[in-house]
Amino acid sequence: MSATEIQLHDRYFAPYLDADKIQAAVKRLAGEINRDYATARPVFLSVLNGSFMFTADLLKHVTVPCEVSFIKLASYHGTQSTGNVKTLLGLDINLDGRPVIVLEDIVDTGKTLHEFLPVLRAHGASNIEVASLLVKPDALKYKDISVKYQGISIPNDFIVGYGLDYNGLGRNLQDIYVVK
Ligand code: 5GP
Ligand code: MG
Repeated sequence: MSATEIQLHDRYFAPYLDADKIQAAVKRLAGEINRDYATARPVFLSVLNGSFMFTADLLKHVTVPCEVSFIKLASYHGTQSTGNVKTLLGLDINLDGRPVIVLEDIVDTGKTLHEFLPVLRAHGASNIEVASLLVKPDALKYKDISVKYQGISIPNDFIVGYGLDYNGLGRNLQDIYVVK
């Protein structure tokens, strides 16, 4: 085991994206959003748990007037998607006529957004876009899902860190690691 490798539960993970690279992607996304939403007063809807770090860091660089709220969904158990998206904590903000930017840590199969975006539309959101720190283009199954603001594109590997967990561990890491 090399010095920088980490262990979480039974699995080993290798360094994959360092904090500087992550922060550069976050700043770039904030710049794109600042440019596109200069007058629109968007609502950021952060999908918990995985997006909490991305949300906090992104919003520090968002300079346009905006609101932020949180929703909790889950579709993963261990390293495999269960295919079932459960809404665990509902919307607590009026979206009627509001432009919404959904904040995701990672878009994998797209199932979470495929199920969640229609719910937002039903709440009257006027224009819904997605900002995701990470995307796995090779894993995308739901072709109706498009991520307008994409941070870093990665292969179809299981990763942890910067909000993302392996059975509860690893969310606190400031770098991102890939399973070995
Ligand atoms: P999707 O519904 O697009 O298949 O998956 C979305 C959610 O699955 C993400 O928001 C994230 O919470 C979780 N997920 C997808 N890929 C990974 C991964 O590589 N590592 C971890 N820890 N979670 C992932
Ligand atoms: Mg997520």
